[in-house]
Amino acid sequence: MLDTPRFTEITSTADIRASRHGSRAKCLQRLIRMDLPVPQTVALPFETVREVARGDMPDLHTLISLFDGQPLLLSVRSSSEMSDWGGPGAVLNIGMNDTAHAWLSNTLGHQAADALYLRFIKSFAIEVMRLDEEPFAEITTPAAARATYEDEMDEPFPQAIADQLGAVLRAMARAWDGTSARLLRQAQGAPAEAGLGLVVQRMAQGMGAGQSGAGVVQFVNPATGEPQVTGRYMGQAMGRDALLARDKALYLTEDPRGPSLQDLLPEVYQELIEIGDACRRRLREEMQVEFTIDQGRLYVLDAVRCPRESRASVAIAASLARDGIIPRSEALLRVPPATLSRLLHRQIAPSAEREVLARGVAASPGAAAGRIVFDSAAAQASDARDEACILVRRETTPDDVRGMHAATGVLTERGGSTSHAAVIARGLGLPCVTGATGLTISRRKREMRLPDGRVLSEGDMITIDGSSGEVMAGEVPTLEPALDGAFGDFMAWSDDVRDIGVRANADTVADATLARTFGVDGIGLCRTEHMFFDPARLTVMREMIFAESSTDRAAALERLLPMQRDDFTELFTLMAGLPVCIRLLDPPLHEFLPSEGEGERALAAALDRPLSEVKQRGAALREYNPMLGMRGVRLGVAVPEIYEMQARAIFEATVAASRDGAEVVPEIMIPLVTARREVELVKRRIDAVAAAVQAETGTRFNFRLGVMVETPRAALRAGEIAETSAFLSFGTNDLTQMTYGLSRDDAGRFMSTYVNEGVYPEDPFQTLDIDGVGELLLLGAARGRQARPDVTLALCGEHGGTPEAINFCRLAGFDYVSCSPFRVPVAKLAAAQCTI
Ligand code: PEP
Ligand code: MG
Repeated sequence: MLDTPRFTEITSTADIRASRHGSRAKCLQRLIRMDLPVPQTVALPFETVREVARGDMPDLHTLISLFDGQPLLLSVRSSSEMSDWGGPGAVLNIGMNDTAHAWLSNTLGHQAADALYLRFIKSFAIEVMRLDEEPFAEITTPAAARATYEDEMDEPFPQAIADQLGAVLRAMARAWDGTSARLLRQAQGAPAEAGLGLVVQRMAQGMGAGQSGAGVVQFVNPATGEPQVTGRYMGQAMGRDALLARDKALYLTEDPRGPSLQDLLPEVYQELIEIGDACRRRLREEMQVEFTIDQGRLYVLDAVRCPRESRASVAIAASLARDGIIPRSEALLRVPPATLSRLLHRQIAPSAEREVLARGVAASPGAAAGRIVFDSAAAQASDARDEACILVRRETTPDDVRGMHAATGVLTERGGSTSHAAVIARGLGLPCVTGATGLTISRRKREMRLPDGRVLSEGDMITIDGSSGEVMAGEVPTLEPALDGAFGDFMAWSDDVRDIGVRANADTVADATLARTFGVDGIGLCRTEHMFFDPARLTVMREMIFAESSTDRAAALERLLPMQRDDFTELFTLMAGLPVCIRLLDPPLHEFLPSEGEGERALAAALDRPLSEVKQRGAALREYNPMLGMRGVRLGVAVPEIYEMQARAIFEATVAASRDGAEVVPEIMIPLVTARREVELVKRRIDAVAAAVQAETGTRFNFRLGVMVETPRAALRAGEIAETSAFLSFGTNDLTQMTYGLSRDDAGRFMSTYVNEGVYPEDPFQTLDIDGVGELLLLGAARGRQARPDVTLALCGEHGGTPEAINFCRLAGFDYVSCSPFRVPVAKLAAAQCTI
């Protein structure tokens, strides 16, 4: 292999590579190849810059002799491999010395020459030689600046351009090796050995006679991505001056707020528009262009990828693909899936000021502002007054669901990303922060104590950001969701390429309607217990749970049957023949017991029983470890009438919905299975109910019975379980909880310590634990498939909406993932990206 030269003039044919000279050098070469007026530029590769840092300088006289120009002034800019990795700031006007100053005084006048020299001495002193800023702060003449420099350095201010350039290159090379620069770029994903290239460019003077100046232009709106010429231009200026002094700078195009470059220099403006268009087509990207006008002549100094917010990155990628500049697959790859999720929700305006009061788990994305309320009644009262409120609770239970419906956001002191509050809020598309460390919430005193000791009361305004986990003071400005054309294109293009199904976890008609607007492949999990959160139904549900005799229970079930049948009929009709997977009841009982006091009194009234009896029965039902107690199929085995009622509701709804719509083949899923026998017991009864409904209605229908694999034993015994199951759907919320022996409702309290200490790389309730839980998934899938080759495999825990889990499931040959409706777009894009 040939040695890379120590520096190379960038021409259209020079061997310049981003992997060797950095992305800025490569981009400048592209601009030169497009015949754009780029001032002469020389690139130093990573290797040379490393040598410079070690004290081995290339031959600067030869380098300088490559440039023409009188007087010769140079700039140096950093050129790291990826522009996100940063690098030291540019140094301009290298070569300013007494001779150049005299020359410029004749051509530009004393004032301009003085300003240039003063500026260079200051920046050389402070940025290159690292002198304190303070002695230079008040200085206004180059002579005084030079005297101060010589005083501080105890040596003359360098006059030779080679000496100045050498010092600049050395300072920039060493800055790249500094600890903070290293940490910053590593945070952006740069490898430890990432190199820095430098580009040395002849300065185009924006300070000459006639029309001279400098500016920055971009051709799209950075917030929306819509075509729009934005930026600033300033006469008698250099570099990014126009951006630093925005109020003194001109707009680029006609603007009611003031004069513009387009008014002043229409031909130059037109040239810029053409450059923008050429960049878009040839560089296949919206670029921000830094330009200088030297006595009426335009130069392009640099072009970088236009900075943009989430909404703009989707709009720009979609529009490049629509115009045939990039393939659709590339547009899909250009947007990280999480970016898409930001479009679905209100976001904190990026420029907004904020005072962060506390931080917790980012449990359900989106930002919301509202007045603090401490219970559902206050939330509903606030809603009735049309006043936005945030429901603040220690943790939530079904009693709080009506409050959640009325609130604009939810904040809890306890809980993690799969706690009750988090799961319900995601389903409702409601911003939610859980496990906010350091908050102490007292419903009784109606106050919330902050980590710094301050106290907020009911009615105080706060803003929560469920995308970052921040709790902020007052009302912080937000941006509206953006489900525009570009979003729709992304959904349609993802559907064209993905090869794993994406279903939604939808419990209500509202969820399912939303899921359909995102174009889901079906419902992968309908949690039937969530259908009973409505206050009227909750009472009947509690009557059923509290029933001691089978007669009492039968009476309650009789009232629940039509409710369930109507729910399912609506769901089947809405999903129009798409698969709907209904999970039989899985109520962790503690979530359904009435709260002590008011809740118990209301239930006593509804049951027409003495309060003491309700209290006693509640106490008898309370479990030490409800998440490991009488849940899921255990309830189905112990009290079979419940699942029988549900099966009947499903089958009667199937008959009703099939009568005037597409054929419905319901999927029935048994939760929390640990053994084959549980499945056999439930299956026998469900088959009997199916036969009965078919006989009663004279209608034949098909259905599929499957199992939720969410205990480690079910994964281990998946082979024999699959023999009686048409599908296995892995519930990774419980599976993670049980694999780790870690309560999903309490882990939020110490998870950040665990992650900070490196015990777990990430919160396993948010990011699928591929090493541990993943192994159980692979093992369960393999055993299930071996016993039943056509078994459908799925994942329906909260991880179903995360790119890592989707990629994992696709590689493992799963048929689909299922996630909350609001995560569907992210899941679809992630599913598409892993096939490209
Ligand atoms: C699960 O455990 O992964 C699951 C989807 O069920 P739930 O969250 O309702 O327990
Ligand atoms: Mg579960």
